[in-house]
Amino acid sequence: MIRPGDPSSLLNAGRRAADLRRLRDAGHTEVLVVGGGITGAGVALDAAARGLQVTLVERHDLAHGTSRWSSKLIHGGLRYLATGHVDVALESAKERHHLMTTIAPHLVRAIPTIIPNYGGKDPLISYAGLLAGDALRGIAGTKRSTLPHARRVDAATALQLAPALRSQGLKGAIVGWDGQVEDDARLVVAVARTAAAYGTAVLTHVDAVAVGNGQATLRDETGEFTVTCDHIITCTGVWTEELNPGIALSPSRGSHLVVRSGRLGDPTASMTVAIPEEFGRFVFAIPQPEGLTYIGLTDLATESLEPDPPQPTVEELAWLRERISAALETELREEDVIGTFSGLRPLVSDAHAATADISRRHLVAAQPDGVIAVTGGKLTAYRQMAQDAVDLISTRPCPTTGIALVGAPGDSRSRDRLTRRFGSEAPLLREAIEREPELGEHIADTPALAAEVVWASQAEGALTPAEAAESRLRVTMVDQWRGPAVAAVGEVWDQA
Ligand SMILES: Cc1cc2nc3c(=O)[nH]c(=O)nc-3n(C[C@H](O)[C@H](O)[C@H](O)COP(=O)(O)OP(=O)(O)OC[C@H]3O[C@@H](n4cnc5c(N)ncnc54)[C@H](O)[C@@H]3O)c2cc1C
Repeated sequence: MIRPGDPSSLLNAGRRAADLRRLRDAGHTEVLVVGGGITGAGVALDAAARGLQVTLVERHDLAHGTSRWSSKLIHGGLRYLATGHVDVALESAKERHHLMTTIAPHLVRAIPTIIPNYGGKDPLISYAGLLAGDALRGIAGTKRSTLPHARRVDAATALQLAPALRSQGLKGAIVGWDGQVEDDARLVVAVARTAAAYGTAVLTHVDAVAVGNGQATLRDETGEFTVTCDHIITCTGVWTEELNPGIALSPSRGSHLVVRSGRLGDPTASMTVAIPEEFGRFVFAIPQPEGLTYIGLTDLATESLEPDPPQPTVEELAWLRERISAALETELREEDVIGTFSGLRPLVSDAHAATADISRRHLVAAQPDGVIAVTGGKLTAYRQMAQDAVDLISTRPCPTTGIALVGAPGDSRSRDRLTRRFGSEAPLLREAIEREPELGEHIADTPALAAEVVWASQAEGALTPAEAAESRLRVTMVDQWRGPAVAAVGEVWDQA
């Protein structure tokens, strides 16, 4: 267990400068991990925990890529079951178990998910799917006290859980349970900080320009330099082809709407609405703890990786509104949407599959130039992906199912923001607020507190106010918040 605020786990500008200097002076690292999303952070932690000397380089900020734009579900894989990929679903259920019980119980909580029944055979199939998911939960060893079992409920109970559901024709619902992460970018930062506690040099704003044959050309703010490496593992998501021309991806854009939960009657369950003409596909409305609900998800093949971050199209947003409205008493209007976000799935190509069916499995591939590429998969399965990759370079047993991340344990269901987001480190922020009461003030009209800005720069590797605002406090998810919140974060940053 890493002590709250343990100096070895702190990421900040000073630590980065010292680690970067050491790397430049040595000109060598045992393991170079490229990419600071969930996969790269997971690989770095795994390799460092097996005793290897690790450097992680990320060309932007931690969680800059897809890892901050997910649906924030740690899921058992209902969709994989629906498409017959029982092995992928079982892997997800096992990883969910590790995350909820040992690795990050402070960040991952159980969330009920409700599938309304308006007749027809879809709900029965969904029920069968949830029962099968329940069986996988049992095989994974997750107790019912952690994830209750699926059950049918009557219409009145369904409306209690999701008050905005269309009541006409509602026969009842099926309620299942899954995992929800407080914030995907926080999970990445927690994994990266834990890797740092095991000795990893975490270097953001360092670009891997070229890798291969035991050597890497890196570029930081002062220019390019070369290091030799015993092992190179790229975890570069949708950018995998840049450093691994032998691997082909078929990226797919997934977009979400952000609405106020009040608009949906403050649901306590995630709503899962089947898309009639596409078997095994759903749209979700997933309530977050602080009054926002994310509605997703599209799945559209995309050729271009620009712009970065990706943007949803007008058609996608209209499609999402239309699909979720089919299950609502009052149609969701354009003005109900207070924010949007999109991410690109790093799907591994299969020329014969339609986009929504392309493999959701992960790929770990040793390339002819000695580089190991890890891509595909999902947030939920990052630990297994890392294990598979590091197994190729280490014969030591993988210890990561037993490693609690910084901040664990804690109470992911707490109403208190600091407890939910910082777990066992929350008292450190509260002490800071006691010393300097102005750190207890909110950042503009957002739920975030000024103390979080200071912690982002001292401990969480944010190098600029924008990085603190976007990927630590997440105060840019609502369009109206963005301008004032970024300005307020800047003010606190300047005084810190
Ligand atoms: C819309 C959407 C919703 C999703 N929802 C879920 C969900 O609810 N649950 C779930 O389990 N999964 C979900 N996923 C899948 C999951 O988000 C991704 O599989 C995962 O985040 C990919 O992480 P990654 O680290 O491989 O890639 P990324 O997060 O993209 O990280 C790659 C990193 O590599 C860096 N990089 C690239 N090239 C270089 C270079 N040359 N040098 C240095 N750095 C470089 C990039 O800047 C980036 O930060 C979702 C995906 C999408 C798109």
